[in-house]
Amino acid sequence: MGITSKLSPLPVDDAEILKQLPEAELLALLTAVAHITDDLEVLDDRLYPNLLTLREPQSGYTEEQQALARDIVMRGLRKFRDEQKGVPARPSLERLRTIMQFVAGEPVSERYVPLLLEELALDGDQLRAPQWNKSSIAPDRDFSAIIIGAGMSGIAAAHRLRQAGVPVTILEKNDDVGGTWLENKYPGCRVDIQNHMYSYSFAQRHDWPFFFSPRQVLHEYFRNCAEEFGLLPIINFKTEVESAVWDEDAQQWVVTSINAAGTRRVDRANILVSAVGQLNRPNYPDIAGIDSFAGDSFHSATWNFNIDLTGKKVAVIGTGASACQFIPQVAKQAGELFVFQRTTPWMIPAPRYQETVPNGFNWMLSHVPFYAEWYRFSMFWRGAEGMLPAATVDPDYPPTEKSVGLMNEMMRQMLIEWTNALTEGDEVLRAQLTPNYPPLSKRFVVDDGSFALSLRQPHVSLVTDKIERIEATGIRTTDGQLREVDVIIYGTGFKASQFLTPMKVTGRNKTDLHEQWSGDARAYLGVVIPNFPNFFCLYGPNTNIVANGSIIYFSECEVYYLVECAKMLLESNLGSLDPLLSVHDEYNERIDAANRLRTWGFSSVSSWYKNANGRSAQNWPFSVLEFWEQTRVPETSDYKLVSQ
Ligand code: NAP
Repeated sequence: MGITSKLSPLPVDDAEILKQLPEAELLALLTAVAHITDDLEVLDDRLYPNLLTLREPQSGYTEEQQALARDIVMRGLRKFRDEQKGVPARPSLERLRTIMQFVAGEPVSERYVPLLLEELALDGDQLRAPQWNKSSIAPDRDFSAIIIGAGMSGIAAAHRLRQAGVPVTILEKNDDVGGTWLENKYPGCRVDIQNHMYSYSFAQRHDWPFFFSPRQVLHEYFRNCAEEFGLLPIINFKTEVESAVWDEDAQQWVVTSINAAGTRRVDRANILVSAVGQLNRPNYPDIAGIDSFAGDSFHSATWNFNIDLTGKKVAVIGTGASACQFIPQVAKQAGELFVFQRTTPWMIPAPRYQETVPNGFNWMLSHVPFYAEWYRFSMFWRGAEGMLPAATVDPDYPPTEKSVGLMNEMMRQMLIEWTNALTEGDEVLRAQLTPNYPPLSKRFVVDDGSFALSLRQPHVSLVTDKIERIEATGIRTTDGQLREVDVIIYGTGFKASQFLTPMKVTGRNKTDLHEQWSGDARAYLGVVIPNFPNFFCLYGPNTNIVANGSIIYFSECEVYYLVECAKMLLESNLGSLDPLLSVHDEYNERIDAANRLRTWGFSSVSSWYKNANGRSAQNWPFSVLEFWEQTRVPETSDYKLVSQ
């Protein structure tokens, strides 16, 4: 499985195309045909999508509309094939915007167009790849980078820095690339954003086997990317960073790491990139008696496959995104399963969640030029600002712990209908699975109903009484009941607020990063930190998203920014840069004020979106467009600049 699939020519036999057509997604296919035939008439008014039904199969087209669309597509493809003119030059911006608006089903503001062009990658990687190279701007300067972590963000950063001619060393604690997709192996683990969008803009596949890939597929994708970009030789596996110290005289980072054999190594570089993620240090719950359990236990992120759950009495603690994926799988094996739920998650339906991509659809993606790009665009646009309006607190509504605004209330109603359908005839389960806080305050559980349906089996119980303690033989709740179990599985999440732990990072004037943060991580633009020159965080403070975009998009923006910072260092012959405290503080005030006006900032429900101070150090409160705009060009006035 390669990462960038090659296109095959359209067959001369119409029957072959017609055979595949029923399984194609028609809206994006129409736009691809308009593009390759340079004929906007293809975008027939009768097929302009309805925003209200856009998310339904075939964008909500009626049978009649589908027949019309297939007819238009077929005529267009025949014309494209038979005229043999090939793909025309990139349409003008105006024509592109017309096509964008058709597939979006709504006006696309001019401000978005440059961002969307990058995501569309019609010219390949040209727009987002670095437009400079060290060899031409500072050929003689000894300048290199260290990246900590070879997960999704680390791979992107290494690829881009190397494209710009900057030598890179990667230090990775695991024995393989892939980060979260390597570590989380629990049964049922899969991505909950469609892969045609949850993939690098610069490494798009036409042959995703699933709409939402299982972890193995994603791990293989990231491994193939690392291989194809030539990164494997520069990754030091099983090498965990212990400390990083800024050497002001040399204007370099000194990074000490330790390998599996206990041997330490020291690396030096001009820039240091932390690509360690937010969600990789398992969180074990603070429950009395946790160490007294005599049976087997493990965390979802360190699944113990040596323990056969067949016929066993199993307890799962937690009903977050991970647990809701593995509970249906555990239920298939366990003799008896107790699921301990502290807070009910909101479940959002994703009907194609476990489905494979139909052959005909993949066939079209690999035969029709730009179909894959336009399909990705349609996914990107729908997810771009997506649910952000529903996450907005309306002070006049007035906001409560039920809903924070009209859109939020409409979403609540829609989700309750889904829960009600899944719990039909079981009033107890319905009450247990109906959340009592506004949707979008916590992470959704994206699901096709498997989680709720697994709870309806006779050998599965959902326990909502508070856990009092864990004892040698099981779990006791505050009503006095002890559920005796053989195995406890902790689906209790990660230490998301403890950014960059347990590494010790020492910046200018011996400033310790964790002391500076004091449990409340902050960065400027989510990437750079005062007193920590030439230090760049990926998926750092306030770059997580709840209602819009994908983490890969955010990482690509952050990587673009850091590569531009490297350019600034080289072009202006600078030794280092770190953001001014005043700029950083002002930025964080703006972030905090905006986060307070989002559901996750308003609601008091417990979630990993808040740190011990009750502040969201995790989430980005604005649009994806604003993140893109702020990560375009580093402003010299934002920085303390030190010459070489
Ligand atoms: P999580 O969302 O933090 O869920 C942890 C669960 O454990 C919650 O139900 C929590 O209850 C419960 N819990 C924690 N401490 C507890 C305690 N002391 N007593 C009782 N219950 C306790 O963790 P996660 O499910 O691993 O997911 C973390 C994030 O990873 C997700 O939000 C998502 O961003 C990402 N993820 C993504 C995917 C995907 O793409 N498909 C899959 C898995 C994870 P409360 O709700 O009451 O705190």
